[in-house]
Amino acid sequence: MDVLISGAGVAGTALAYWLRHHGFTPTVVERAPRVRAGAGVVGLRGEALDVLDRMALLERVEALNPLMGGAARADGGGDLPAVAFAGDLQILRGELIGLLYEATRQEVEYVLGDSIATVEQDADGVRVTFERGRPRRFDLVAGADGLHSGTRSLVFGPREWFVRHLGIYTATFSLPCHLGLPGSVLLPSMPGKAAEILSIRNNAEAHAALHFTSGPLAYDRDDVAQHKRIVAGQFAGEGGPIPRLLEEMSRAENFFFDANAQVEMYRWSSGRVVLLGDAGYCAAPTSGLGSSQALIGAYVLAGELAVADGEHTAAFAAYEREMRGFVAEHQQMGREGADRFFMGMPIQEAPEMIAAGTREAPRTHLVRLKDYAPSFAARWPP
Ligand SMILES: Cc1cc2nc3c(=O)[nH]c(=O)nc-3n(C[C@H](O)[C@H](O)[C@H](O)COP(=O)(O)OP(=O)(O)OC[C@H]3O[C@@H](n4cnc5c(N)ncnc54)[C@H](O)[C@@H]3O)c2cc1C
Repeated sequence: MDVLISGAGVAGTALAYWLRHHGFTPTVVERAPRVRAGAGVVGLRGEALDVLDRMALLERVEALNPLMGGAARADGGGDLPAVAFAGDLQILRGELIGLLYEATRQEVEYVLGDSIATVEQDADGVRVTFERGRPRRFDLVAGADGLHSGTRSLVFGPREWFVRHLGIYTATFSLPCHLGLPGSVLLPSMPGKAAEILSIRNNAEAHAALHFTSGPLAYDRDDVAQHKRIVAGQFAGEGGPIPRLLEEMSRAENFFFDANAQVEMYRWSSGRVVLLGDAGYCAAPTSGLGSSQALIGAYVLAGELAVADGEHTAAFAAYEREMRGFVAEHQQMGREGADRFFMGMPIQEAPEMIAAGTREAPRTHLVRLKDYAPSFAARWPP
């Protein structure tokens, strides 16, 4: 069966991997001219680590942990409170996608710099037209194109029906680590705003995140210069390291800016079209679980399609049954993270506080991974 996947993020590349393994023929169309972009450090937790293990990628992800080398300091340094890291394992978003891409590119067709223009379903399949390429037919279409999913808008309805803004915006970018703030720090809180600097690779590099509260803002999602101006405006006049951070941000090529928002849908499929990852059930960066969800969703969706022998109606229903409770819990955590931020606390629970029993451990073991692919690692990729 030919499956078109829209989006080569974590969800899309992982779905391509598992579909290929189960004998489907995935094609991935990615709007950006290249895969792997993005500045942020993402956390991976719980069953997402099992999924990586089943892909024989866990060790490679562990080896890429940017916090290796003792750069992270638990105490945050001096009177600066510690940043809480999201997840059991950290990796740069781009490096995770890079691993998944490398593991699939020999066997999967990637079409870069294009996106779906129209989707027309009939009894036998889906006719898809593209912004650039020629029209093609597929058996199924999977929308893994993120919070602002074009697939969702084309098939399910406008973004406003499904996207709920949590009142916080986040920008992330990389910078050379020369701000005199080794380790991980949450800068002294400014009302409604926070800045984090995460020093990685033995202080050779650093990543910054700037968060601020705001109602929905109107801006062009493709205009990075405009995003930087919005962030700079929010933090203008702040002291300490903020001016230098803003200076670095203005130069940063690896820059991400988006709302902390959640996607709530009654159904994740319509006929032969299905959604996964942020496109269908974004839990917001405040959950720290977006990439974990994407990995697990891809594993379950491909596995259920294999079990149902490609019978999509049964497979999509089973996929929803497996994932619904898990996603609801993650979204709850995303809302709690936002609430903490509004109360002037770190978005993520600090691991040392969890270890000390002063905070509840993250509730991330809610989905039992079925053994869709027990002997996979030994057989593929060759
Ligand atoms: C560039 C970028 C940087 C990010 N950086 C951070 C970060 O620093 N911190 C954080 O917490 N989260 C970040 N995220 C979000 C995080 O990656 C996701 O929450 C999580 O990994 C779930 O992944 P996903 O694959 O469902 O969606 P995403 O990671 O958003 O991936 C969606 C993919 O689909 C592509 N796409 C979008 N629209 C279309 C379209 N119409 N046609 C074809 N392709 C399309 C996008 O280019 C992207 O490659 C970032 C997302 C992006 C796109």
